[in-house]
Formats: sequence, structure tokens, C-alpha cells
Amino acid sequence: MDATCSPAATTVVLATRNAGKIKELNALLHGFGVTVLGLADFPAIGEIAETGDTFLENARIKAQAVCRATGHISLADDSGLCVDALSGAPGVRSARYAGEDATDAANNAKLLAALAHVPEADRTCRFVSVVVAAAPDGRELIAEGAWEGRVATAPAGVGGFGYDPLFFDPAAGKTAAELTAAEKNACSHRGKALAGLLAQWRDWRA
Ligand code: IMP
Repeated sequence: MDATCSPAATTVVLATRNAGKIKELNALLHGFGVTVLGLADFPAIGEIAETGDTFLENARIKAQAVCRATGHISLADDSGLCVDALSGAPGVRSARYAGEDATDAANNAKLLAALAHVPEADRTCRFVSVVVAAAPDGRELIAEGAWEGRVATAPAGVGGFGYDPLFFDPAAGKTAAELTAAEKNACSHRGKALAGLLAQWRDWRA
């Protein structure tokens, strides 16, 4: 469908194939009369290359590409771990820190090695998430969330994904992988970014 076609008012497409993320957003947007679809509902949309240098650029690239392809308001998020002692790395390269198609284990091992001689006080880091909503008329909504922590010296916990076993939250006294999903959502970068988006949603859609 052409981007200039008027979109169905109640449909939003989340630029992900992750059914869990779609279900979560559906629950959050239900009260706004919105139905959330995912990329599985639009099989013609292939891989969208994340060629940006910032989380915002990558989220915008994905949201705009899906909006153009579907004619619906589209939402995309980009996220990663920024470590102060590594000048913000792995950052936008978090998923492929140890190489293209790197496993979480390989990324975590590389991070531990990179910080091997960095003392605890200097292992500060944050998870960052930027969410962009793109509308067919060109309007855009942006929300960002950050979660401050420290890179642990050894992995702990079995929950979550990615760098969760190494991300120590001093407020909780645990790594992100030791939190329940609900506990993580309540303080996570993605939870905060989504809350920021929802706070602006009704006015933006008006
Ligand atoms: P994406 O935004 O889904 O592309 O995620 C980028 C990468 O950042 C993931 O592959 C993880 O390595 C890392 N990441 C983002 N959010 C989290 C999180 O909540 N926990 C652990 N790792 C994360």
C-alpha cells in the first residue's frame, strides 16, 4: 500500500517478529482502541538493515520502512548497552559486538574480557532504548528510556536475554537476569521508553 493512503485508524504495526513484544504492546495499547500487528502479518517486508550510527537513527529507519510498506502507523525500537569505560561501546553494535550473528554468550565473553582490568567503580553502564512511531502523514513520535547499572565481573541469573546476566542493577542488588519479567519491565530502558511513548500517544493521535 502507498504511504499516502489513509491508514486504518486502529492498526499499528510493530517492527518486530517477536510475538512476546507484540502481545505486550497490544495489552498496553488496548485501552487506546489500537490493535497491534507485527512483521509476521506482512511477510513481504524483508530484513531491514540497521545502518544508523545512533539508536534514534536505527529506530527511525525501521519505523519509516514499515510505515511506507504497510501504510499504517508503525513503531520500532532500537536498544543496546553503553559502557562508560568503553566510550559507550558496544552501543548500537550491541547485538553484533563479537561479530555478525554473534551469540549472547560470545558478546558477554567479549565484554568481560574488554573490562578485565577495570575496577568495579569504573564499570558503570546503561541500557538505552529509543522508540519511534512513524505515521503515514510524516508525523513522528520519539521516546527514550535508560537503565543505569554496572557491568558485573561474572554472569549471574538465568532470565532475560542478551547482556542481562552481566547487567547489575545496584538499586535491586541483582543482575537483570535475576529479575522476574515484571520486575525488569518496571525499571528497564524499554519499559521507560514505552511509558514515555504512551504518555504522549493520545495527543499525538488526535
Ligand atoms: P535490539 O534493539 O532488539 O536490536 O537489541 C540490540 C541488542 O542490545 C540485543 O541483541 C542485546 O544484545 C542488547 N540488549 C538490548 N536490550 C537488552 C536487554 O533488555 N537485556 C539484555 N540485552 C539487551
